[in-house]
Amino acid sequence: MSASLSDLLRPDLRGQTPYGAPQLDVDVALNTNENSYAVPQDVVEAIVSSVAEVASGLNRYPDREFVRLREDLAAYLTGATGVALTANQLWAGNGSNEVLLHLLQAFGGPDRVALGFTPAYSMHPIITRTTGTRWFDGLRGVQGAGAFDLDVLSAVAQVRRYEPDIVFLCSPNNPTGTALGLDVVEAIYDAAPRAIVVVDEAYAEFARPGTPSALTLLEGRGRLVVTRTMSKAFALAGGRLGYLAADAELTQALRLVRLPYHLSAPTQAIACAALEHADGLLATVELLKTQRDRIVVGLAEMGLDPVPSDANFVLFGGLSNERVTWQALLDRGILIRDVGLAHYLRVTAGTPQETGVFLDAMRSLAPTHRQEQSP
Ligand code: PMP
Repeated sequence: MSASLSDLLRPDLRGQTPYGAPQLDVDVALNTNENSYAVPQDVVEAIVSSVAEVASGLNRYPDREFVRLREDLAAYLTGATGVALTANQLWAGNGSNEVLLHLLQAFGGPDRVALGFTPAYSMHPIITRTTGTRWFDGLRGVQGAGAFDLDVLSAVAQVRRYEPDIVFLCSPNNPTGTALGLDVVEAIYDAAPRAIVVVDEAYAEFARPGTPSALTLLEGRGRLVVTRTMSKAFALAGGRLGYLAADAELTQALRLVRLPYHLSAPTQAIACAALEHADGLLATVELLKTQRDRIVVGLAEMGLDPVPSDANFVLFGGLSNERVTWQALLDRGILIRDVGLAHYLRVTAGTPQETGVFLDAMRSLAPTHRQEQSP
């Protein structure tokens, strides 16, 4: 008798659940922190013409080193943050998820340990485990005042306790929305002398003014990595382009684990065309920040408990049963995200119209869905 597949599966993967944000056909999709604005027509045309340019050369493998893309990404980051970066400090993949996978393939693995501070991006532990790396859930602040903040003392104590090989930070943090002080990044870096410290800045472009990027800490810190993506602010989730900036020696190590030619010629062409039109694409960022702030104010007025946000989404608490509220919204054609936190849901800031539909629905639900306040 042949063995069953469940017996053949790697023991550490048995019983695990895959990433599963629902992809449903709804009127108002505010569940995966995409940018609700379609790619503008002039950018569509630029993308189509740059893909057309590479199409006849698809018989050949693409530029394995994606040189032009790395140069364009370096120029974008330098322009956006003032941090001088060169192409050899840049690395990219099919979404920042793949870039995170490369980091784990190179620096994680059996007998190695990764630490994150929960609640944070749910893929950090999942990607970690796929490489046989052990994952530890560190803690953020207790719920209540300053809920979900990560302070220096607690972060350092946890890093000393677990002695990780990789530390995941997320700023602005998904799902809580809050950005992390650079003092925490610096302290963790110093407290974990063997660790690659990854700051996932997928939502950096949405941060409130005065929020510094961990890119400003890269100089002289060879173990620090800052990951970014074109999926959110650049409205290019379907293009699948994520990237990181780090010391050139670190990006060199990633060449050991990536599959050859991992970025297709169309992917490179699309990303370069989008970067050429960065200003046009990023014009939606301010619009989305306005909607994000509108959500925070609106939900607070309803007696709910939104967490102030530096991202394009808002986590809000104060619900008696988050699953019931999630379903009630879905029944109205509005899909938001249940992130597995009791009494909380997360909603992406959409267009003014989408945001209005969500807020109107919440206004009608809030009186019966609010958690009882203790006297
Ligand atoms: N990091 C964070 C914090 C995210 O929220 C996401 C997507 N939701 C990603 C990384 C991955 O995005 P992508 O692979 O599309 O770049």
